[in-house]
Amino acid sequence: MSGDQVNVVWLGSPTFPQAAHDALQDTQLRRNLKHATTTIRDKRLRAVAELDDWETLREAGSQIKDRVMRHLDEYLLQLEASVTAAGGVVHWAEDAREANRIVSELVRAKGATEVVKIKSMATQEIGLNEALEDDGIEATETDLAELIVQLNDDRPSHILVPAIHRNRSEIRDIFQREMGKHGIAAPDDLTDEPRVLAEAARVHLREKFLRAKVAISGANFACADTGTVGVVESEGNGRMCLTLPETLITVMGIEKVLPSFSDLEVFLQLLPRSSTAERMNPYTSLWTGVTPGDGPQEFHLVLLDNGRTKTLADTAGRSALHCIRCSACLNVCPVYERTGGRSYGSVYPGPIGAVLTPQLVGVGTSEHADSLPFASTLCGACYDACPVRIDIPEMLVHLRAKVVDAHRGGVPKPEALAMKGARVVFGSPRRLAWAERLGAIGGRVAGIGGGRWLPGPARKWTGARDVPVPARESFRAWWRKAGRR
Ligand code: SF4
Repeated sequence: MSGDQVNVVWLGSPTFPQAAHDALQDTQLRRNLKHATTTIRDKRLRAVAELDDWETLREAGSQIKDRVMRHLDEYLLQLEASVTAAGGVVHWAEDAREANRIVSELVRAKGATEVVKIKSMATQEIGLNEALEDDGIEATETDLAELIVQLNDDRPSHILVPAIHRNRSEIRDIFQREMGKHGIAAPDDLTDEPRVLAEAARVHLREKFLRAKVAISGANFACADTGTVGVVESEGNGRMCLTLPETLITVMGIEKVLPSFSDLEVFLQLLPRSSTAERMNPYTSLWTGVTPGDGPQEFHLVLLDNGRTKTLADTAGRSALHCIRCSACLNVCPVYERTGGRSYGSVYPGPIGAVLTPQLVGVGTSEHADSLPFASTLCGACYDACPVRIDIPEMLVHLRAKVVDAHRGGVPKPEALAMKGARVVFGSPRRLAWAERLGAIGGRVAGIGGGRWLPGPARKWTGARDVPVPARESFRAWWRKAGRR
């Protein structure tokens, strides 16, 4: 497992400020991202506008999630009992290492050396593919975008469209170069037409679907009352994974539990419109334990904590666990649109990554995680778009305060020194008057030189933005001159 934390896989990129700086130099990446996010954004707005009760649905989703968090222990125990009664086996994993060990042992017990996978954020979070590889098991991602990322030994850039940063001709090159090394090769006359690319992937994957004895999935939801687990997807690859192999292993974050089957009514409306701007998901697969002679005959549900109970303990930060991974917040975020998902360093990019990842790994434990709450303009677009009303901007501010608190003491950062200076100045009217006078002089000097930058360490700050030129005359001076003392 890479990175400076063991429970969440880091993508190997530098901390957000540096990674974002590098990403901004990549014009092709920005063009790809802008095109993709603008398209999805506009479609989502149209899909949402079709429903008169959209705001009521959002509120319902928010309240169900809120209830889940308040009674998570009870719902999880109920889920375990329901899954077991339906013939499944439930495993509890405290962290990534334990979850990976459980899955690997289950696969090896079936004598399998390869597995097919449906896209799952939880398994990416814990680095399952890499852990399986270490144990001699080859995992094949069957979601088209995930397959592109995996074949190119790349990292995902978006929750829903992991290869959003690749255009069609790049994908054709990846298929031609890599498919043959892992199974059926792409045809020589492969073009960059979406239909042709999809067909090459279909042929490559079909052989694997038919051969695999074990499949691994994530879960969008699991209903505590019935033990029903659900996965929604667009391509049908998930349906193949969930029905063809003899053994199905599902790795699910504990926050995905819902109180009852009827709650699906709310989320199966909220999720597709927010994610792919569709009225309903092309494939919604629901299964309850095992059924003799129908589908996998062995079902294992691995319930993953990996920092979630710690997150739950913070009442101001826990709503990050409400997330249904629709990615609407990414598509509206001006920071994400310019920097792409890999700048966020973890498998959870964009606004939700900025609040979820630091909490999963623990604020103050890693430079990577501590940089994330600052990766936002706090414009609030993510809050407006979120189908379960997660107030991401408020949580960002809360986490920023936690980061600052975690770094109190030791050598102060330039921001801390600047804030201390500001406190001294604003603490006395006399000092403020002096500062205003100095500012006015500075304004005149800047006016002569046309300078929009600051010297010394402050130059780093002005390297990315213009300094507003201070007014030549302070407000007090103007007030006095105007005779309004
Ligand atoms: S935070 Fe909200 S908008 Fe963002 S991915 Fe999660 S559910 Fe979707």
